[in-house]
Amino acid sequence: MNLILMGLPGAGKGTQAEKINEKYNIPHISTGDMFRLAIKEETDLGKKAKAYMDQGELVPDEVTIGIVEERLQKEDCKNGFLLDGFPRTIAQADALQTLLKNMNESINYVLHVDVPEENLVERLTGRRVCPTCGATYHVMYNPPEKEGICDKDGSTLIQREDDQAETVKNRLAVNIKQTKPLLDFYQEKELLVTINGDQDIDQVFQDIQNRIEK
Ligand SMILES: [Zn+2]
Repeated sequence: MNLILMGLPGAGKGTQAEKINEKYNIPHISTGDMFRLAIKEETDLGKKAKAYMDQGELVPDEVTIGIVEERLQKEDCKNGFLLDGFPRTIAQADALQTLLKNMNESINYVLHVDVPEENLVERLTGRRVCPTCGATYHVMYNPPEKEGICDKDGSTLIQREDDQAETVKNRLAVNIKQTKPLLDFYQEKELLVTINGDQDIDQVFQDIQNRIEK
């Protein structure tokens, strides 16, 4: 089964990806991991990507799609794959269609874990971190025993700058703008499956299974 996973930051994609990986035995391929592997294995494309990244430049699509191709040809993809964070643009989505066609493969479903923006703001701004040991908490979903204090070492918890409301809202706005054309692209191809991500983790996964096994 060949899947693409989409969703905004905080929608719980990572958790669902783990569950999908366990249940269906298909690798979770995130863009970051894919680049790190190509660079570590020093493939030609990995070296090219690294050169761009070292310059602080964006890796061009033809390099990225080549790295995707190398990754999808690995042994662990024989049952399929779960792409996460790729494609990011329509050009990449088009290139992926062509690549898969050449491999006699296709996308089965594009899973969109959908959570209303205001709930994401609540999820993301509620994170707290211990500056001493790095433990993470959430004011609502995973609170420390004593408000604002690390359970492990008694340090005062902090909110990272990344998790402050203004930053979170900006990051979401950028992501929404970026993903909208992709959602439309896959909707048009009748591959898009929208999953209500505003439920508990197990129910979200149950919905995913119901949709992809039918
Ligand atoms: Zn701590």
